[in-house]
Amino acid sequence: MSELQQDDKFQWNNTIESASGIQWAIAEQANGIVAVIVNSPGGILTGKQVRVLAEIVGEDGVIKNTRRMTSLLLIPKERVTVALEQLQAVGLRVANLHKSVRNIVACPGKGLCSHSRGDTLELAKALDEAFYATILPWDFKFGISGCTRNCTGVQCQDLGLMAESRGKYSLWIGGTESGMSPKHGVLLRKGIPREQVIPVVRRILETYVAGAEEFRVELGEGARTRLYHVLEKTGVERFEKAIEEVLATRL
Ligand code: SF4
Repeated sequence: MSELQQDDKFQWNNTIESASGIQWAIAEQANGIVAVIVNSPGGILTGKQVRVLAEIVGEDGVIKNTRRMTSLLLIPKERVTVALEQLQAVGLRVANLHKSVRNIVACPGKGLCSHSRGDTLELAKALDEAFYATILPWDFKFGISGCTRNCTGVQCQDLGLMAESRGKYSLWIGGTESGMSPKHGVLLRKGIPREQVIPVVRRILETYVAGAEEFRVELGEGARTRLYHVLEKTGVERFEKAIEEVLATRL
């Protein structure tokens, strides 16, 4: 199975799409204002980062929080280059829109919610570090919940993780929350140790990319192939087998 590829060469060139195919969340609007969506796994921003966002939009500017826990900024076109430098200086990046991983959604979790059974925000950050700007067939949405109250709706994400007790996680794949036919994903595995989550997720993404390539003709050239489309072709067993191989080599 081929390794995942990442696009670490983001440069704004007045178009949404890069050479790698990833579409970045930065786009000029009809009125000449540029909308920039800022990546922030789990919706976490430091005070310093918030101050920079406020500086970028100005006193009367607007920051819109989105349902995927990002901040959308509206910036005059001539100020975009400087704004991107300001974001980079405080460790913020432009979010991925299509053909990659969307901003990772996570509930407050351990330390912030009394119901939580495990960490969510540190895991969101770790997943972002591992998979931001990974080149994928189409959108890929992660959700992480700290308990069965499931405030992020993990079954309705391409990949959902729910904390169990004793540092383990349950994993769902193949859901989608939006569009005209939202779907619940399937529960792929319970009891995944925290230290195995990143390798398991990597293998899920590799299996998704390989499946999309294998069924490229049937799914349609240029199709917006989500994980659930691939699952319908491969069956869930291929994904189960793939992650059991990972778990077996590391247990
Ligand atoms: S999913 Fe559980 S831990 Fe997370 S915010 Fe909701 S109640 Fe709290």
